[in-house]
This record gives sequence, structure tokens and C-alpha cells, in this order.
Amino acid sequence: MERNNIERNASGLSRRSFITGAAAAGAIAAMGAVAGCAPSQASSPSSGASAETGGSGSSQAAGASAYDWAGPAPEPVTEFEETVDLTGQYLIVGAGMSGYAVATRLIELGEKVTLVAKTDSWTGIGGSVFAFNSSLAKQVGGEVDVEEALPRIMEMMSHNVDERLWRIFALRSGEAMDWACGICEEEGLTVIISEVEHGSLGEYPGTHNFAGGANCSFTTDKDPNSENRLPTTVGSPIMDFLPILERRCTEGGMSLNYSTTVEQLIKDDDGRVSGAVCTSAEGKTVGYVNARAVVLCTGDYTMDENMLKALCPMADSENVYKGFLEYATGDGQKLGVWAGAAMQDTMPHAPMIFSLPVECTMGQSPCALSSDEIRALYEDDPELLQRYQTADEAIIALTMSKNNLQVNANGERFNNEHCVMGYEGIQLLRQPGGKVFNIYTPNWMDYIPEQAGYLGGPVATKEDYALFMCPEGGFATIDELAEANDLPADTLKETIRRYNELCEKGYDEDFLKPAEYLCPIDENGPFYCIPTYSALLVCLGGLQTDPDLHVLDEAGEIIPGLYANGSVAGNFVGNNYTTVCPGLNFGRSLCFGYLLADYLSKNE
Ligand SMILES: Cc1cc2nc3c(=O)[nH]c(=O)nc-3n(C[C@H](O)[C@H](O)[C@H](O)COP(=O)(O)OP(=O)(O)OC[C@H]3O[C@@H](n4cnc5c(N)ncnc54)[C@H](O)[C@@H]3O)c2cc1C
Repeated sequence: MERNNIERNASGLSRRSFITGAAAAGAIAAMGAVAGCAPSQASSPSSGASAETGGSGSSQAAGASAYDWAGPAPEPVTEFEETVDLTGQYLIVGAGMSGYAVATRLIELGEKVTLVAKTDSWTGIGGSVFAFNSSLAKQVGGEVDVEEALPRIMEMMSHNVDERLWRIFALRSGEAMDWACGICEEEGLTVIISEVEHGSLGEYPGTHNFAGGANCSFTTDKDPNSENRLPTTVGSPIMDFLPILERRCTEGGMSLNYSTTVEQLIKDDDGRVSGAVCTSAEGKTVGYVNARAVVLCTGDYTMDENMLKALCPMADSENVYKGFLEYATGDGQKLGVWAGAAMQDTMPHAPMIFSLPVECTMGQSPCALSSDEIRALYEDDPELLQRYQTADEAIIALTMSKNNLQVNANGERFNNEHCVMGYEGIQLLRQPGGKVFNIYTPNWMDYIPEQAGYLGGPVATKEDYALFMCPEGGFATIDELAEANDLPADTLKETIRRYNELCEKGYDEDFLKPAEYLCPIDENGPFYCIPTYSALLVCLGGLQTDPDLHVLDEAGEIIPGLYANGSVAGNFVGNNYTTVCPGLNFGRSLCFGYLLADYLSKNE
């Protein structure tokens, strides 16, 4: 089996080389698997900042912050239990995609780097990484006319972002992706471009997945008789890529310090940021001093309630499921503000809110057997188990949820179900309890095209889906389904009657779902239901920067020595995170990280 050696070319990809919602589904499918990989240590900068070591000399101003959610800037700490002299080195704060992209490229350029992160390992969930017009994308027919795409994307964001950043991303993300693909090639990883269906959802091709390593294996063998026919995805692609970057950095001489929390930035008397005061794994106050520059790559703030309330109120709802990245407490935004930085002027911030069958991916399958039960059932039959997992993955993509019927807790239909996940999440949030119910019957399988696995892998057949929809899980009647899900049966029946009427007509005059997705509910059952929630993955709002990622102060002036990349950098996403570029946040973290390293090496 040649899992790690699948050619990065058109013939190595499925004829349906791009799959709708696939990238998102991949992230979701992987969620359960990688939840345990979210690092455990999650402290935010402590407000006291080691008062016992406090002294004088640092010019970081103490006192009230301009931003209430940040609290007052801590007293500057100038005496340390240990001091690390970073003369000649860059200090990167954060071990996610944004931090490792900068660090890896700097090391490649022959620079010296120290990376600190409060978690005890690299971070990030998911795997879809978006770029426009990489060499691979062009090779498989995924070229995008960015002159045509950019105005559309700007409209989606109401032009309430820094268009200069988008221009750079549109023109240079392909180059950064080529660099990442080169690393994958050297490391034996395969890059797969997820399928994106051009059409009513309008997603752009360019979602790259780095897979085929120990954590995310797969095959693209489509021979129905082959023992390798079905994908064997067991994790999220980022799990293979980031450890490689970590290794390349440390082998290249980078000093890596996990479980090390930056408590405050060190500003020289001339206003230059030149280091950070950290709490080490042993609880010591360590001063990292004399750095050439400090790059904040500290992620987002979904777990800080005050920040959510102030900056992204839409996400501050009890109807939104939260808690994926427990370390996401907005430390970088606070550290920046305390050092005099301005927050982005794009307000409110854009959440990444998706519609997720959270229970389903967290261990409860739609067929009412838990994943563990399924595993136990098929433990003696690995092939069947593998097929089950394939169908499981595919069904998650499908319940995202184009051809089934969605009703809210009132049993009423409320939208065109054929909607990109990023926007569907917002629709869900507007429904009672932020929860909706995907209802379908086995004839659903007659309405699906052949579906590749989310990594563009082999086609799952109707038989595979049938396996997934085990009869034990269906309800014999609509009344039973309604009772089990606490839905009003009479309204639900009327909604189903109306939906079937529209399916019969072939024209959805209520919500304009395209005719090919109008799959009726079979009155004979069995009836299935997958509850879906709106879930907050990350919040995209950060520090004000210029196009070189210098952090700016309230007057729009550069704070010398301080940079930001990834979720902590502002003005890149407006309104709501869009999935027309699936994998955008990893993609921008990679692209700007790569470019920033070049900039630093030349200018700092
Ligand atoms: C379920 C799920 C699926 C997702 N799928 C995708 C996907 O497929 N594609 C995509 O583009 N995005 C996806 N995302 C979003 C993606 O995970 C984030 O956008 C991405 O991790 C952001 O990278 P980052 O480097 O900016 O921040 P992070 O990965 O969050 O890294 C932040 C780092 O900063 C460190 N840090 C924070 N504060 C401090 C401090 N005070 N001192 C020292 N270190 C500190 C942390 O240790 C951490 O290493 C998904 C998110 C979720 C929750």
C-alpha cells in the first residue's frame, strides 16, 4: 500500500477533485479524534505579573487599559529569576500554525529563533488550509481568477477589513502554499485538494490538506475490489503537519519552550518591544530579553467571556457551543493592548460559527449507537469497521446538510438548507435554542451523488451509507421521532407534508433550495434525526497591524519590534468567517507567517 506516496498531480486526485463542504467536514470529522490533543495547560497572563519581582526600568505603562476587557496593564517586571538573552534571535509567542509558519521559515533562512508557548505542545484543530492558485491547485484545474474573486469576498465582509491584507493573500498565498507543499514532499506527506463544487455554494478551490502521516492516513485507491478502497482517515491533517514543522525548527536549532506563559511584553525606553516576561513550566519568572523582534501568534479569545461580550457579542450566547480550544483566552490581544497597541477597527469581530452535529462527533452517532458501541460491534471485522468510519465521515459532510430537511425546535422549516456551513451556523444561532434537527429517510441515499471521503479519497457507495444508517437507529413513526427529540409532532408532520409537496413540484417556492437537493421524506420511514448546533470554533479579531504585520498603536504608528500573525492579528475577516475559502484561517496564518519571516529577516 502506497499511502505516503500518492502523486501530487491531477491523476492522483479523484475525478470529483473538489468536494462541497468537504474541508469543513474534515475538520469536524476530526474533531472527536483530536479533542484529546488540545493541550491541557491554559493559563492567561496573570494580572499580578509576579509582583514579588517587580522593579523599575521597563517602560510598559501600568494603569488602566483603554480596553476594559483587558484589565489594567500589570506593573512592569524588570527583575527575573532567570534571564534568557535573545541577542540576535527572534522571539515567537505561540505554537500554532501562525507561530510555526514564521519560525520554520526563519530557521530555513538561517535565522535564530526562540519559541515560547503556554501549552505543552503545538496547537490547532482541523486541517483545511486555503490558498489561492498554488502550483498544485493550478495543476488540478483549481485556478481562481482573484480579480473576480476579491470583489465578491470584500462584499461578503462589507469591505470592513483591511483590503491590503486580502490583496496580499490573493496574490501570494499560492507561493506560501508551494513552500508548504515542498515541505510535505520532503517529509513524505501527501497534499490533497478538497473538492469544491462550483455552483450555488460558490466555494473556491484551494483547500489543501496535508495528510498521509502517522496521524492522518488515507488512501485514494478507488478500485472497488481493493482492500484499500476506503479512506482510513483517523485524525486531522494538521496533526501530521505541525509536528513536522516543530521538528524541523528544533533540528534547525530553534529553542523551544512549552508550558511557558508570556505575562507581559518588555518595552525598551525607546518604545521598542524587545522581549517578554514569562512564567516558566517550573513557575519561575523568566525574562526573555534583547530579541530582534517579538511576534505574537497567540490565537483567539473564544474562552474569555468578557472579550466575547465586548468584541463579538453574537458569539456570546448560551445557544452557542464553545470549548474547543481551551487555551484561547485572548492573551496576545491583552499583551498587545497593555503595550500600547490598538485593537482592529473592524467591529464587531467575526466569529467562526459553524453548524455542527456536536453530539454526533462527540461520540453519539446518528444511528443511535455510540462510536464506541459501533467499534465494539465490529471489532472482529476491521473491514466493516473501516467502511463504517468512511460512511460516518461522509454522512457528517452530508448532514451539513444539503438534501435533508431541517426544522427548528418548533418543528418548522426556516431556511434554504443548501447553504455554506459558515453561514448556516448563523442561521442556526437564530433558531430557538440554537439547535436544529436534520430529518431524513433512507431514500436520502438515492439523492446523493457519489461522495469522496473528505480528503478527496475514494467514493463511498450507497451500501456504505446503508451500513451507517443501521435500522436500530431509525424511528418507525414521525410521532416517535418527534417525542424523542422534543419536537411538536403536529407541526412537524405539517412541515414534512409541505416539504414533500415542494419536492414533488421540483421547485422550493418557500426557500429556493435547488431542485436537485429536494429529497422528499419517505412516509414509510424509518425516520432519522440528527440534531445540529451552532458552535463557536474561533473568534477572528485581533490587533491592528499594517500589511507587514507590524502592530500599530492608537495613533496608527508602528510599535517597533512587535508583530502579530494568525488569529491575534486583526482586520482580516469581517461579519462572519466565510467558508467560501475553506481553511482560510490556517491559510492566512501560513501565508502571512511565511511572508513575515522574509520581512523580518531583511528588516529586523
Ligand atoms: C474544531 C475546529 C476545527 C477547525 N478546523 C479548521 C480548519 O480546518 N481550517 C482552518 O483554517 N481553521 C480551522 N480551525 C481554526 C483553527 O484551529 C485556528 O484558526 C488556528 O488554530 C489558529 O492558529 P493560530 O496559530 O493563530 O492560533 P492557535 O493555534 O490557537 O495557537 C495559539 C498559540 O498561542 C499560545 N499562547 C497563547 N497565549 C499565550 C501566552 N500568554 N504565552 C505563551 N503562549 C501563548 C498557545 O500555547 C498556542 O500555542 C478549527 C477550529 C476548531 C475549533
